[in-house]
Order: sequence, then structure tokens, then C-alpha cells
Amino acid sequence: MSTSHVIIGDGIAGASAAETIREADPDANVTVITDEGEALYNRILIKEFAKGKLPEAPISIHKPEWYEERDIDLELNTHVTGVDADAHEIHTHQGDVYEYDKLLVATGGTPSQLPVENSDADGIDHFWTFQDARSIKQHAEECEKGIIVGAGLLGIDLAAVCGAQEIDAKYLMRGNRWWRYALSEDGAEIIHDAMRENGVEPVFESGVDHFEVDDDGRVEAAVDPDGNRYEGTWAGVAIGLDFNTEFLGDLDLEEDDGIVVDEYMQTSVEDIYAAGDLTQYYDTILNDRAQNGSWGSAKEQGSVAGTNMVADAEEEAFRWVSSYSITHFDFPFLSFGHPTRGDDEAERKYSENEWRRVAFEDGQLVGGVLIGDLSQQSAFKQIMREELQVADKKELLLEKEVDVEEVKAQAPQAE
Ligand SMILES: Cc1cc2nc3c(=O)[nH]c(=O)nc-3n(C[C@H](O)[C@H](O)[C@H](O)COP(=O)(O)OP(=O)(O)OC[C@H]3O[C@@H](n4cnc5c(N)ncnc54)[C@H](O)[C@@H]3O)c2cc1C
Repeated sequence: MSTSHVIIGDGIAGASAAETIREADPDANVTVITDEGEALYNRILIKEFAKGKLPEAPISIHKPEWYEERDIDLELNTHVTGVDADAHEIHTHQGDVYEYDKLLVATGGTPSQLPVENSDADGIDHFWTFQDARSIKQHAEECEKGIIVGAGLLGIDLAAVCGAQEIDAKYLMRGNRWWRYALSEDGAEIIHDAMRENGVEPVFESGVDHFEVDDDGRVEAAVDPDGNRYEGTWAGVAIGLDFNTEFLGDLDLEEDDGIVVDEYMQTSVEDIYAAGDLTQYYDTILNDRAQNGSWGSAKEQGSVAGTNMVADAEEEAFRWVSSYSITHFDFPFLSFGHPTRGDDEAERKYSENEWRRVAFEDGQLVGGVLIGDLSQQSAFKQIMREELQVADKKELLLEKEVDVEEVKAQAPQAE
């Protein structure tokens, strides 16, 4: 009898699992369920669409025919509302029931709303789906003054939309710099200068106490906790994700700000796997639990889950050093690994727009940020993968060109 694989979510994790399962088992029944109205698209590129730099067409990755050709059942506009693990069934908002032998939860997250007055007013956008990007583009094109909230990797995409759409914007940040958990003031200043050149003014030690709206309920200003008022007819908010796990209800599945999985993407419930942004996975490089919100990592986790679902065994472990790049400015930017972790660090500024920071935990390199020169990223990823004890080799790691053989000769592998 053929095995029935059900995948909830058609983001890159779910779609990659579907593809892997089909390749490994031509006879399996494969169903992909998504509550979005369109099949897999490139979430990374929707920012270029919102900036007005790219038409819709190239953003789509899979047409519905892609699924038909592979005999994968794709259910669009279908929201999963419950899982019955004993019966091996899932339930949808339309009352449909799907039986599974193996289930993959790859439902990612939904942008968090600011817990302040009028945070759902017209003209306030969050950024996750293609639909969000369409709304952002439309609002941005009509806007002269804008407000950005959320000093992280998605907030900067919203700032870049303002730059590209020639919006005069205030970027409200709670701390004294952009992405303060990964960048020092020296590194962040390079980004702040680039924002200013694009018409986006960073405002530090700020945030939103409430939004003001006009008589039609449309946003017209943000007021920060000190009472400063920033006018804007459009606001983009990116303060983090709430993981989409509510449909798991009282299933006895271990969660901890995401779904806990081992390195094989198995959850604590038999025959249920999870992959992508919403996992708290066992990282075999850190030898610790970790989380990662990036395209490459989600794709690999989906593929690993698919392999193990078909094998019904712990056939492949997830072992990955992720990276995330920003291409909005005249200089490149890349973060790798887990740049916000660590108990030790080192950094250096090489020129006006060239800077590097590396973070260590228990002696190992765990992540970093490269600005201006990305040429050493492979060296750093290799040092991470090999789990070398390098925290006391900072000078070697801050050399403009990192000699991995020299680092290896001086730094033993962790026990
Ligand atoms: C604007 C933007 C820019 C980005 N830029 C980069 C970048 O430059 N580099 C990088 O590495 N990463 C980037 N990312 C992050 C990257 O896109 C994500 O890490 C990745 O897409 C996560 O994939 P996923 O499959 O885990 O989740 P998602 O892509 O979120 O997919 C989950 C899917 O599940 C669906 N779903 C949720 N709940 C249910 C339910 N109950 N029933 C049915 N379906 C459900 C959702 O609608 C969604 O379609 C960016 C993200 C955004 C939004």
C-alpha cells in the first residue's frame, strides 16, 4: 500500500519536502495544503516587488502545473484547523479531513502586531506574504511621509521600500542602533548612513506608544513613548513572528517558541515532523537547540524531513550553516550562522563601508556579520562546520584574508 504524506504549508520548507518525497517515493500519496491563494513563490524577492523594482511574474516559483506534473495534490486557500494524532487525521476550516501516515508541519509564522492603540489601522502594513507586498507597494506609491518600526532584517526591507519609492521616512528603533543584537555601534553606523542617503532617518531610543488615525481610520502619525510625534500616511511594522501552531491545539507536542524537533526534524509526537522557520531544532554544529529564519535553512530542513518521512527512519540529519544577505545598499551585507548568540566576540572596521564581527560560544565560532566584503564567508562557514575552538584566535579571524589551514593548525576541533 502506498504511504500518505500530508504537508501543511507551501512555503519553501513544505514545497522542498514535497519534492524530496516525490523523488524518493514515486508511489506515495503527497498532499500539500496552504491557506495562501498561490503556490510557492520567492518570499525573498517580494521586497523587490514592493520596491517597484520587479514585476510579479518572476517571483512565482511553482505554478499549479508543477504539482500536477508530479502527481502532488495541492490544496490552496485551505486553512488547517486541527490535528488528531491518534486517528492520524488533519481537519480544515471547510470541515474536510485528510488522513496521513506521515505529517509535516511547515506553517512558518505570522508577523506580530504592535500591542498599541490603532496598530491595525488602515495604512499599517506587516511584511510576510505576496499579498502584503502588493499592499505595501500600493500604499508606498501613494505616500510621501512614512514610518518604519522594527530594527531587524525585515524592518530594513521596509526602509529600503521607502528609499526606492522616494518616501521621506522615520525609522523608529527602541535601542541606540539597528539590529543591536548582532551589530555594534561601529557596524550599525555604516547601515544608518546608508539609510540616511536613501531618505530614511533612524530615530533611536524611540518606538511606538500609539498610532494616530484620521476620521476615516487611516494612520496619520506615530507617537513614541516620550510623546514625540512622527507624521506618516503609511507605516511598515516588522517586530517579529508569531509561529503558526495554534491548530495543534492540545496535542501533546513539545513547543518552546516554536516546535521542538531533533536533527531529523521529528517532533515529540510519532509520525509528525516539522521544518522551516517555526522549528526549534537540534543543531549538530552548536550541539544545542537553535532557531533560524532563513530561506536556505528552511529549504534544507524541508528536504531532510522529506527524506526521513519516506525512509521512516533517521536517515539524514540536518547540519547547516545559514546565511542571510541584504542587497539594498551600494555595499554588500551578509550575516551567517547565529550572529545574535555568543558569550564572546571580536570585530574590526577595515574602511568606511567595510566591517566584520564574529561571535563565539563555548570557544566555537557560532556566527557573524560581514559588511562590504563577503569574500571570507566560505572560510567562516568551514570553521563553523568543523567546530574548531577559535575564540582565542581572534587575530587570525580578523585578518582580511582568513587562512583556514593556519586556523586549523592552531585551533583543535572541539571534543
Ligand atoms: C520580505 C521578506 C524578505 C526575506 N528576505 C530573506 C533573505 O534575504 N534571505 C533569507 O534567507 N530569508 C529571507 N526571508 C525569510 C525567508 O523567506 C523565510 O525564512 C522562509 O520563507 C521560511 O519558509 P517556511 O517554509 O518555513 O515558512 P513560510 O514561507 O512562512 O511558509 C509557511 C506557509 O504555511 C502557511 N500556513 C500557515 N498556517 C497554516 C495553516 N493553519 N493551514 C494552512 N497553511 C498554513 C502560510 O500561509 C505559508 O504559506 C525573508 C522573508 C520575508 C517575508
